[in-house]
Order: sequence, then structure tokens, then C-alpha cells
Amino acid sequence: MTSEVINIKDLPKVDPVFGQASFNDHEQIVFCNDKETGLKAIIGIHNTVLGPALGGTRMWQYANEWEALNDVLRLSRGMTYKSAVAGLNLGGGKAVIIGDAKTQKTPELMKRFGEFVHSLSGKYITAEDIGMETSDMDLVRDVTPYVTGISESRGGAGNPSPITAYGVFVGMKAAAKFKYGSDALEDKKVIVQGIGHVGESLVEHLTNEGAQVIITDINQERLDFVSKKYGAQIYTGDNLYALDADIYAPCALGATINDNTINLLNVDIIAGAANNQLANGIKHGQILQEKGIVYAPDFVINAGGIINVYAEIENYGKTEIMRQTENIYNTTLNILNTATTNNTTPHEASILIAQEKIDARKKENKQ
Ligand code: NAD
Repeated sequence: MTSEVINIKDLPKVDPVFGQASFNDHEQIVFCNDKETGLKAIIGIHNTVLGPALGGTRMWQYANEWEALNDVLRLSRGMTYKSAVAGLNLGGGKAVIIGDAKTQKTPELMKRFGEFVHSLSGKYITAEDIGMETSDMDLVRDVTPYVTGISESRGGAGNPSPITAYGVFVGMKAAAKFKYGSDALEDKKVIVQGIGHVGESLVEHLTNEGAQVIITDINQERLDFVSKKYGAQIYTGDNLYALDADIYAPCALGATINDNTINLLNVDIIAGAANNQLANGIKHGQILQEKGIVYAPDFVINAGGIINVYAEIENYGKTEIMRQTENIYNTTLNILNTATTNNTTPHEASILIAQEKIDARKKENKQ
């Protein structure tokens, strides 16, 4: 066997893990590899002060491992804040599997991933994210109890996406109340970017409310289907970000509000389901504030999914799930008002609320 000699000068300038810009005092990062199934995964455990780190698994064809690591670090940190703001006794974690979910996901790979989750003895609990279905979580359940989002027939709370969409919808209404003085979305022009599991359900709520919905997706079949079903207009222009509309709802991937797009935006409100919508939370949050665009923080309004899966752990039913999801309206309005009072951004105000809860629990635990 020959071993390759690595020249220190060839190593990247930043330290690979703890030196990553997205590293934020994460407690544990687990790299999982299995040659037989082709599994390459990273589990990020950001913080477990409030409870076990719960967060979904994303399967995605990343351009490189840096991108995958960066994603899991950002997503797991977001989960800490999301659960804390929603008032759940959960910490923040997330996993990414590197690969194409359409061609590389096999039952063997999912079970092997489940074994890695099991090896963490409940410190990390998984669920669905992009590239995952309830049936995949059922496969994980075959090898570990540390999984949520399993089928209802196996004791799970079922597909979280409609609940997530409902939370986004009420969060959007709260943002409208803040901006316009009324939460009615009738006749508002709303761009829904990404009409997958959550996006489609959001389109349904918006259509029922009488909003004028414009949809966009990279999947033409989905566009045709959703457009026909709800009468939504398909976006055909060449720069969605410059479109004159009232509300922009990012429901595909994160970081769509970035240096290239932020100055084009021509909307009053941003409220959507995608995680990590702001490429840089602090910088882009401030620019939005200066432009007078109300930003409903993603991790506040997309908490319906985590509320739904938490029900599996706490054994509460649909009524309680809906009550907590509906409360996203009050939480969002409160955060938008607090941000104004404290002359800060909604993103920073939300993180502060989460951090205060974590610090208080840490103090209690020490006593
Ligand atoms: P999904 O995979 O079902 O849907 C995503 C959709 O976005 C797909 O239709 C895809 O074709 C489309 N898309 C991908 N890239 C795009 C692009 N560049 N432009 C336009 N469309 C694009 O995922 P989902 O479950 O609906 O989740 C959507 C977002 O919400 C994700 O960011 C996810 O992390 C987040 N989220 C989901 C939940 C949930 O309960 N499912 C909970 C919280 C957050």
C-alpha cells in the first residue's frame, strides 16, 4: 500500500473544520463513511443544552466536501435557534448525505446511515429534509429509535411539510400585519420559489386567501401540475429577483438573498420556508432593513415541521401541533416589533431570543 504524502503548503488556507466560517462552537461533528453502500455523510450537532439535537437529513449532490460541511454547519446551527424560539426542549443538529437522492439512495445506504445515528445514543435524532421521504425514515427506524418523521402507521406524525407550509403562511400573515397594518393577503402578489412539498401547500393556502400567486421551479412538470391545480401563474422572465411583487417566499434552497440579488429585490416582505435564506445573516439582514423590506426570519416561520416531529417524542396530537404552529403568527409579530423597538434586525432579534433561552437553561442546569 502506498500512502500519499500531503504537502502542508497545499492545504487550504483556513483550518478545515473549526476554522470554517460557518463553524459556530458546534459540540460535535461526525463524519460517516461506508464503502459497501457508498455512504458519505456528515452529522452536525450544534448545541444540546435544551435537549437532544433534532434535525433532518439532506441528501444532495454537493460540488465538493467543503460545500457539504458548510451546509451541515449552517443548517444545524439554524436548528438550535429554530427549536429554541419555538419553545421546544430540543437542541440543534442536522445531517447531510453526499450524493444524488434519485440514483444513489438505496435501502442499504439508509440503514447504514441509521446505524451511525444509533451510535450517537440519542444525542442526535434525525428526520426528513430535501432528498428524503417518510419511507426512508422508516428504513432508519428499522435500526434505531432515534428518528422522527416516520409513517403514521409506525407511530409517526406523518409528513411534516403541510404543517411547515401552514406555519410559513401564518408567519407571512404576521409580516403583512406588521408592514401593512392588516394581515389579509387577498390580491397580494406573492412569488413562491420552489413548489415542492412545502411550496405547493403554501400555494394552496395563498390561493384560498385570494392572493395572486406566481410560481417558479427548476422542475417543469411540477410547474405545470401546480399551475393547473391552483391556477397559479408560472414565472417566465429572466430575473425573478427583480420582479415587482409584494411578497417573496423562498421555498427551494438557501442563500438566495445574497450580494448578487439583494439590490434587485422589489418586494415589501420576504417570508418563506427555505432554511438559511440570507447568505450572511447579519450583513444581508441589515441591508433588507435599510431597504424597508420586512424579513420574517426563516427559522421562526418554518418551525411547523419541527413542531410536528417533536410531537412524536412528546406524544401529543394534531390539536396541539396546530396550536403551536398557529402561534408562529404571534412569535413572528413579536419579533418584528422587538427588532424595531431595539433598533436591530428580525434575524438578530430572533437569535437573541434563542440565545437567552439557551443561556437561562445552562444556568438552571448548573444550579
Ligand atoms: P422539496 O425538495 O420537496 O422542494 C424543493 C423544490 O424546490 C423542488 O420542487 C425543486 O425542484 C425546487 N428547486 C430546487 N432548486 C430550485 C431553484 N434554483 N429554483 C427554483 N426551484 C428550485 O423540499 P421541501 O420539503 O418543499 O422544502 C423546501 C425548503 O424548505 C427547503 O429549503 C427545506 O430545507 C425547507 N424546510 C422544509 C421543511 C419541511 O417540513 N419539508 C421544514 C423546514 C424547512
